[in-house]
Amino acid sequence: MPELPEVETLRRDLLAHLPGEQVVSAEVLRAASVGYPKPPTVFCEQMIGQVFTDQITRRGKYLLLHLAAGASLGVHLRMSGRLLWRSADLPLETHLRVRMIMASGYELRFEDMRVFGQLWLIPARTPPEQIMTGLKRLGPEPFDEAFSPKYLAEQFRGRSQPIKTALLDQHLVAGIGNIYADESLFISRIHPLTPVRKLSLDALVRLHGAVVEVLAEGIVQRGTTLRNYTDAQGVNGNYAGTAWAYGRKGLPCRVCGAPMERIRLAGRSAHFCSICQSLE
Ligand SMILES: [Zn+2]
Repeated sequence: MPELPEVETLRRDLLAHLPGEQVVSAEVLRAASVGYPKPPTVFCEQMIGQVFTDQITRRGKYLLLHLAAGASLGVHLRMSGRLLWRSADLPLETHLRVRMIMASGYELRFEDMRVFGQLWLIPARTPPEQIMTGLKRLGPEPFDEAFSPKYLAEQFRGRSQPIKTALLDQHLVAGIGNIYADESLFISRIHPLTPVRKLSLDALVRLHGAVVEVLAEGIVQRGTTLRNYTDAQGVNGNYAGTAWAYGRKGLPCRVCGAPMERIRLAGRSAHFCSICQSLE
């Protein structure tokens, strides 16, 4: 599942291909994959003639691809969405949902096996959050000053939810998913079930530093989960191979050697070391 580093990697890759490209035709293969405008015929009509610019911005796990006439194309990959940059004569992907063919003979394809992802064409002079309502609920970006140990302390006061669950809440901080939450908690030596109100300021300082560190490192490693997102070179994210905790159930802890554990928590998994990560 794409998290902040995967979406940021995609943003940077799209910058190498999209600026200056003009849409000559568009096709929606699954209506629900377009959130706005509806029906898909209107989306396709309005995409034709649009020119992509070099303004591609990210907020949490959302991307905004700004268009020359002032509109923008919003993208949320959710569970399994992928944006692919392909020569238009290549065979179509099995789970292809939307395609936008450019004057250059290349196309931007939106593939999505699990079909939770969406695209939105946001008209000019319209705040994106009016159309992509998920943006309204996003907390600060993890690399912003607003995200700090003090901010975490304020958010956690009097609350008893487990820290792992809190980190996945996009209202607390934007962009963290299961992988980077497990990694951050391992590095900061915090047990995933620790109630947030019990975290000391010292623990919050460690956690804040770990979140920033693992996300930055994830970007350097080009993310964990995306494959072939903008070209046909088979580029794979590298992070999972170097993970401290995520996906390592039963394997020896990289710090103390004890077997790593995995529990279910609010419908998700949590990987951790019960020796290195203490319940405060
Ligand atoms: Zn350990």
